[in-house]
Formats: sequence, structure tokens, C-alpha cells
Amino acid sequence: MASGNAIRGTRVGSGPMRWVDAGQDRMEAVARTSVSYWCANGHQTEPSFAADVPAPAIWECPRCGLPAGQDEQNPPARPRAEPYKTHLAYVKERRSDADAAAILEEAMRRLHERRPR
Ligand SMILES: [Zn+2]
Repeated sequence: MASGNAIRGTRVGSGPMRWVDAGQDRMEAVARTSVSYWCANGHQTEPSFAADVPAPAIWECPRCGLPAGQDEQNPPARPRAEPYKTHLAYVKERRSDADAAAILEEAMRRLHERRPR
């Protein structure tokens, strides 16, 4: 009964007002647990979830938008996955370009060497 609500809790910017209303409606009907999360900026947030649904490992900090985790001593790092991937793709691209250039250069050299003057 409450699982749909918890899943929608992972939303970003899709009708938060309606989500809050739904949560308040259910507050009296369903047992809830509060879970504390801390973000890398030291903000603590304590969203509550239906008790029959496992709390997510990561929660979005409502104050700064960083991911927040349940371990106060070890909050999730700022998301770097995308820049890292981009950098890796960039390096790969550079390498394949260089390889292609080297292969082309080698092919051209052989072509010239074979050609009698
Ligand atoms: Zn924060």
C-alpha cells in the first residue's frame, strides 16, 4: 500500500507538493520510521518512510542537493561520476585519434618507400 509512495520519493522535481500531501495522508494510516542522512556539507535531514519499506541508502539533501548517506562520519562524496566518465572518454578518444594518425602515417610511409623514384 505504501510502496508506491516510497518509490516516488526518489523523484526529482516531479510534483513535490502532491508527494507531500500524499505523505501526510498516509502518516496516520501507516507506521513510519525516521532515518537520518548527512550530506558532504554536514547538513542533516531526517525524512520518514513507511516502516514496511526499506529506507534508501542515499537521500538527496534538501538544503544543497548533494547526495546524503546514513553514515554521518562518511557522507557520500559530491557526484563526480559524470566528469570522470567524460574525461575517460576524452582520453580514449585522444588515444584512438593518435593511433589512427600513426597508422595512417605508417601506411603513407610504406606507400612512399615502395614507390620507385
Ligand atoms: Zn546538504
